[in-house]
Amino acid sequence: MRALQPVRGTQDLLPEVARRHRRVIETARAAAELYGFVEMATPIFEFTEVFARPIGEHTDIVAKEMYTFNDRGGEEVTLRPENTAGVVRSVVSNGLAQSVPLKFFYSGPMFRYERPQKGRFRQFHQIGVELIGVAQPLADIEVIALGSRILDALGVAERVELELNTLGDSESRAAHREALVAYFSARVTELSEDSRRRLERNPLRIFDSKEKTDQIIVRDAPQFEDYLNSASRHFFDQVRAGLDRLGIAYRQNARLVRGLDYYTHTAFEFVTTDLGAQGTVMGGGRYDGLVELMGGPALPGVGWAAGIERLAMLITEPPAPRRPVAVVPIGEAAEGAALTLAEVLRNNGCPVDLGYSGNVARRMRRANHVNARVAVLIGEDEIVRNVVALRDLDSGEQSEVAMDQSLRELQARLRAFYP
Ligand code: ATP
Ligand code: MG
Repeated sequence: MRALQPVRGTQDLLPEVARRHRRVIETARAAAELYGFVEMATPIFEFTEVFARPIGEHTDIVAKEMYTFNDRGGEEVTLRPENTAGVVRSVVSNGLAQSVPLKFFYSGPMFRYERPQKGRFRQFHQIGVELIGVAQPLADIEVIALGSRILDALGVAERVELELNTLGDSESRAAHREALVAYFSARVTELSEDSRRRLERNPLRIFDSKEKTDQIIVRDAPQFEDYLNSASRHFFDQVRAGLDRLGIAYRQNARLVRGLDYYTHTAFEFVTTDLGAQGTVMGGGRYDGLVELMGGPALPGVGWAAGIERLAMLITEPPAPRRPVAVVPIGEAAEGAALTLAEVLRNNGCPVDLGYSGNVARRMRRANHVNARVAVLIGEDEIVRNVVALRDLDSGEQSEVAMDQSLRELQARLRAFYP
């Protein structure tokens, strides 16, 4: 039998990578808290309809990337490809719309059947925020500021750029759409087959096309900017003014559209050139029609999601975990005492690695292997004399420490290593 492999596009998060992920999540969580966002989680799978209509039938995600299956009861469910639709579903099903504004932070795995490559997986992880119930551009500004702060705190701000665009409100979008259809229709023979299909259903998706020929045509396509009504224009001005006030730099990108159907007004991405083709680390925008589309009241919303794998690749190595104390029994008779001592030290907040078997030499090798800072050796002789041996594993220095009931001396000595 061949060795079992993980499914294509999935990967194990071995300790070093898991530590990077944790650093990203904890940094984001702490920053989100500073802005008053509270953490929540939705299920990893939902009824397919939670994603299909909101994300848009003709998006890549719904058309070809969803993990959809019938469960044993015959229900059609889908592994979540993103989390905004799930959060909005949760707002609607829990009746939370009463208490807006809602400010949520989340993190967790997402699933898309994509072609795996560097920075692109079939199971990947996102952090994200949603701010629901605020129509003012201040919400867009704060959501972007939070994203920017997280990238800053992760030490990657220098390596990413904020790209900004506006899609306008639904009236402006409709006017733009009409112009787009006219423009692309006149060039339909030059479009890729995929884009020809998009033209009928959702012409904006052509902007997303990765085909060279499409991209050339897109270059001269009608721009949102020329179709914005005055309300949309004013909204965008205020978003930019807010970012300017906070000193958050951005580059306007008139071609920036988001992959999903439900966006209005602000669209943005933080991008880097340091990850090859998979350069978008964080993307988001405003989704004013989504809550209503999903059966809730007409509530506006704005948010973003960021790929944890991509951020984890960009950050510098996070600090190593604390080096443990190795508690080493000398001989079987001391194992009980070692077990108790390990627990007492842990009660006091010391990380302890207890070697489980083998002679002293083998356990010391284990202590080295786990990068222990000190070893506490305890044998029959030590038990009788009420002492332990304390060895500094960096210097090799060893000395005896008296053991009273409260371990006062041992604690004092260890404090030098575990302040
Ligand atoms: P891309 O253009 O790279 O496909 P997207 O527009 O599909 O991105 P979003 O749906 O906006 O991505 O998701 C937000 C972020 O999640 C992306 O910017 C990226 O960092 C991350 N992400 C999306 N898909 C994947 C994936 N398959 N593997 C790893 N990270 C991903
Ligand atoms: Mg994608």
